[in-house]
Amino acid sequence: GEGKEELVTDYVSKNMNNMTVNMPYQCFINGKFIDADDGKTYDTINPADGSVIASVSSASVADVDKAVAAAKEAFENGEWRRMNARERGLLMYRLADLMEEHQEELATIESIDSGAVYTLALKTHIGMSVQTFRYFAGWCDKIQGATIPINQARPNHNLTFTKKEPIGVCAIIIPWNYPLMMLAWKSAACLAAGNTLVLKPAQVTPLTSLKFAELSAKAGFPKGVINILPGSGGLVGQHLSEHPDVRKVGFTGSTPTGKQIMKSAAANLKKVSLELGGKSPLIIFSDCELDRAVKMGMGAVYFNKGENCIAAGRLFVEESIHDEFVRKVVEEIKKMKIGDPLDRSTDHGPQNHKAHLEKLLQYCETGVKEGATLVYGGRQVRRPGFFMEPTVFTDVEDHMYIAQEESFGPVMVISKFKNGDVDGVLQRANATEYGLASGIFTKDINKALYISEKLEAGTVFINTYNKTDVAAPFGGFKLSGFGKDLGEEALHEYLRTKAITVEY
Ligand code: NAD
Repeated sequence: GEGKEELVTDYVSKNMNNMTVNMPYQCFINGKFIDADDGKTYDTINPADGSVIASVSSASVADVDKAVAAAKEAFENGEWRRMNARERGLLMYRLADLMEEHQEELATIESIDSGAVYTLALKTHIGMSVQTFRYFAGWCDKIQGATIPINQARPNHNLTFTKKEPIGVCAIIIPWNYPLMMLAWKSAACLAAGNTLVLKPAQVTPLTSLKFAELSAKAGFPKGVINILPGSGGLVGQHLSEHPDVRKVGFTGSTPTGKQIMKSAAANLKKVSLELGGKSPLIIFSDCELDRAVKMGMGAVYFNKGENCIAAGRLFVEESIHDEFVRKVVEEIKKMKIGDPLDRSTDHGPQNHKAHLEKLLQYCETGVKEGATLVYGGRQVRRPGFFMEPTVFTDVEDHMYIAQEESFGPVMVISKFKNGDVDGVLQRANATEYGLASGIFTKDINKALYISEKLEAGTVFINTYNKTDVAAPFGGFKLSGFGKDLGEEALHEYLRTKAITVEY
């Protein structure tokens, strides 16, 4: 990149061989790193110790206008538009290769900026981002319409065919839990379809997006195709959603912000896709493989310190195995190593930012006040940074706040259900306004498939959890939003269909 380069060596622990990470910290507009129009910056914080990592440009409304104009020009008149689909695919493969070459650097930056443990950041945050780019690169030259027989007066003299076209300038607005992966899920589909984009990372986790911008330039993406604007949601996100030259908004984040974006997007009736919050039920039957259910159930809650949109927000455990399940979970939690996320032996890192930790502590206090039993955790860990103990609540009743609201943290919320009461537990599992994911543990395939058909959730995991794959569509129902990321369906979120009819 052409921007300022600073070092974050101090943040890199010894077992990373004191790797030096060169980082751009400015807005990336029209192929260049530049300061915000009004010169404003803000600090991004390392959640493992509360220290400032870097001062990052804070984009203004003028920067949004510049970035959208650049993306529009690139879409309408640039080299990008003249490029054939196969060349577009090659460019995306090249970018994926570069991301892979820089995977350790990216994982280090992600770990420092988001608190994800390094080993997970490498495998999931970065690894899946690379896979996502490769998957969608392969789609570029496979986007096609159909020929449709039409029933006109002269049937043999008419032909209708459809073309799939890119939409234009897309705004992509993402959260802080998997910063690079959320970028990849949306940008890769958006670019494969031939659009240009302006992306706003979450304010608290801008760094991997900026490193990505640098790599995209290195890969050879023409100027203006990819623009990245770190900055506030209320300002940059809002202006992007309202902007008349933006034709589509791809958003992942909370349900209230999703509703706001839909309102803003109504100004010029933009196409919108929303991946929002969840309170995903996980049902554990007594006929499951218990140790597997314990292991997967813990992953369902504590993966990425609970900052996982499909995290199991509520566990329903059949009465006859309930106490044993809880005992085993607590036993396993005690073995988890909480500590420096860059240390490769760490299992559980800090929460993403201070306000989030405070919200989680409050959430646990509410659970206790409501009368749920706090079996384990619920407190901040005594060390610098924003660490929270993995937490377990039992005796949770359906009306309680912690049974209804997403924590987005390492809080296991367990309720019992009566032995054999399949329909009862199903009804309770569906009694939420969200519908993102769900899970079932049982060896009885008939029961599992019966329940999976009735669960109101975009994803159902049976005898597994968190098994997200680039080829499988991902997205929720109800207040968890609409539209899909990943898989072929995601591509169509970034395409429009034109029907052409000819009479001959
Ligand atoms: P958030 O809604 O606060 O912020 C998400 C993004 O929107 C950020 O970039 C933010 O700056 C921006 N934003 C804020 N206000 C805006 C506005 N008025 N207009 C436009 N943009 C605005 O969410 P968060 O706290 O960053 O993320 C946590 C939430 O994201 C959780 O609810 C979680 O479940 C959800 N999430 C969902 C998925 C999914 O795929 N369904 C994945 C990850 C996270």
